[in-house]
Amino acid sequence: KQQHFDLVVIGAGAAGMMCAATAGQRGRRVLLLDHATRLAEKIRISGGGRCNFTNRRVGAEHYLSRNPHFVRSALSRYTARDFIELIERHGISYHERDWGQLFCDDSAQQIIDMLRAECEDGSVQWRMPTTVQSIERIEDAAARFVVHTEHGPVSCQSLVIATGGLSIPKIGASPFGYRIAEQFGLPVVPPRPALVPLTLSPETLARLAPLAGASFDVEASCRGPAFREAALITHRGLSGPSILQASSYWQAQAYEADDWAPVSLNLLPGISAEGWLMEHAGERGLLANLLSQRLPRRFAHAWCELHGFEKPVNQFRHAELRQIAALLEAWPITPSGTQGYAKAEVTLGGVDTHQLSSKTMEARQVPGLYFVGEVMDVTGHLGGYNFQWAWSSGYAAGLHA
Ligand code: FAD
Repeated sequence: KQQHFDLVVIGAGAAGMMCAATAGQRGRRVLLLDHATRLAEKIRISGGGRCNFTNRRVGAEHYLSRNPHFVRSALSRYTARDFIELIERHGISYHERDWGQLFCDDSAQQIIDMLRAECEDGSVQWRMPTTVQSIERIEDAAARFVVHTEHGPVSCQSLVIATGGLSIPKIGASPFGYRIAEQFGLPVVPPRPALVPLTLSPETLARLAPLAGASFDVEASCRGPAFREAALITHRGLSGPSILQASSYWQAQAYEADDWAPVSLNLLPGISAEGWLMEHAGERGLLANLLSQRLPRRFAHAWCELHGFEKPVNQFRHAELRQIAALLEAWPITPSGTQGYAKAEVTLGGVDTHQLSSKTMEARQVPGLYFVGEVMDVTGHLGGYNFQWAWSSGYAAGLHA
């Protein structure tokens, strides 16, 4: 027999659970479905197991989207403060790290347990693991959709798609949300891996790979904001928080530019490279030795070798030192690609938000159909912004659906 719910939410991750709990607590009869065996794996592995659940400073400038103002309404309706109050109410202790990032003191599992308890408060019903076979739109006084699952059909007034992006396929990521958007005629901004380690051409890699493990403070950018954090050399290329941040902007160029700007690294952040080199212009030691005062020694040597700067500092003309300073402040790296969805923390692109209401997340042309979380074309910076988007968008839809 076909069961009926006011609301069916597909995807029991961060955004789906937030949405289901909010709607359930409003008195809506809610069913939450997921194809995974284990609940909210992405929350469990997030933030190195401690879940960077939000950030003290959240604003539209921390998100990439083809529709940059879209996030404002939902973020101001359900703020970082609101989520902090929720976790305080559940007695979860947390701490702040650099740049306002908030993490659980103990374990990300506490966030999953909290969301589960909030769903129980709203008498949300669960069905997982369950495969959704198809979605049918119907004309009926009581229902607008039928969700066909492996365990039979379920009808509902409102349908929320919270199936996330494509990152980490081995824990259940799927393109389901994009397929549903296409079925209902909503455009999808082509997905791409983001917050992802970058790979390098064989020539650059040949010089840098022997330094794998070296990490240093840089300011990385790519046609967007500059991120001052660690960069890490790996055996395949570059990683570390500053590189992950810049990778999203490097990837975003796929949507607009014919000419791809490289990722630019300021290797001497916080000082004037030219001023510093000029101060030491008379020194007889190798340039690489001078650079070793501010960069890991082996990296300084490899960098000088890569560019043919293998002379004592005092043998460079001042004009040459100025050029070297410019290169140190904006060292262009042209990635050969990324390490893909297997290593990407998030997915850039997704359901085009121009077709959605920024207040409710409902598709303008398809009453009753909602998209929340990462499945949409909203991608946060590293630092708790992606979860905050899941909470804020899930809440917005949960209040309305
Ligand atoms: P998800 O949490 O991915 O949930 C989607 C759910 O949908 C899953 O349960 C999945 O099983 C289900 N699903 C998918 N396809 C189907 C289908 N066809 N049928 C039924 N169910 C389906 N962000 C932060 O802000 N802070 C962090 O510390 C952080 N750390 C991260 C660490 C890692 C390793 C990764 C990969 C990501 C991290 N993120 C972090 C990003 C964050 O996890 C996501 O942005 C967030 O989980 C998105 O929430 P969501 O609910 O939209 O999707």
